[in-house]
Amino acid sequence: RPTVVFDKVRFGYETDREILHGLSFEVPAGNHVAIVGPSGAGKSTIGRLLFRFYDPWQGRILIDGQDIAEVTQSSLREKIGIVPQDSVLFNDTIGYNIAYGRDRANRDKVIEAARAAAILPFIERLPDGFDTEVGERGLKLSGGEKQRIAIARTLVKDPPVLLLDEATSALDSRTEQAILATLRRVSENRTTLAIAHRLSTIADADRILVLEQGRLAEAGTHGQLLQKR
Ligand code: ADP
Ligand code: ADP
Repeated sequence: RPTVVFDKVRFGYETDREILHGLSFEVPAGNHVAIVGPSGAGKSTIGRLLFRFYDPWQGRILIDGQDIAEVTQSSLREKIGIVPQDSVLFNDTIGYNIAYGRDRANRDKVIEAARAAAILPFIERLPDGFDTEVGERGLKLSGGEKQRIAIARTLVKDPPVLLLDEATSALDSRTEQAILATLRRVSENRTTLAIAHRLSTIADADRILVLEQGRLAEAGTHGQLLQKR
């Protein structure tokens, strides 16, 4: 379970507009840190930098002490699993969607991931099980079912670091609560960075960072932050 560190990270998409102004924070090994803040604050940008869709202008991002700029994209992807807000499912079978990018023959891992994502009973009730076609040509899934398949897809790689990027914000509130409970369970043994718009959509966090206009405005536990309001 690695430690994730942002060390004085400065970044902008356009050269004349800095979005993150020397951001520093740490997610200790196995801890859960949540980043909340208004839209436009730079939360998703943090996720994109962690995944190396972009590189910082200045500063470093470290996983277990190693600068992510110095590891290969594939070894980075083995370490970090992302659960995005809206996962795209392929027009293919449920099994393919979960095993995407991996050895499709490794059925035990796929079943284990589906179980952890709490979608296994649903899949087992389908006449074609994991071979059920989903998407435009196949079975229509609810938002919650889609998100559970996306979670299973992430878990099949067994990543030690999880990035939850507004992972429940596309869902209605009842579904959101159910998915949050699942995320709480699957993140238990992993170093987790959760990005969210609102405090209420955080599964659990040892520490919450409030990001405003690319800077940390506040940090503390859930209780500490609520007390201040
Ligand atoms: P948040 O996730 O907190 O809503 P973002 O990280 O998505 O914020 O965006 C932070 C700022 O960066 C916003 O001002 C947004 O307009 C800008 N931004 C995001 N993506 C891009 C992009 N691809 N090109 C230019 N500006 C962007
Ligand atoms: P792979 O299965 O090749 O190892 P990943 O598991 O790293 O790939 O990524 C799974 C999928 O999620 C990929 O299609 C990737 O492009 C997509 N993805 C990664 N980061 C984001 C993000 N921030 N928002 C939406 N989709 C993302």
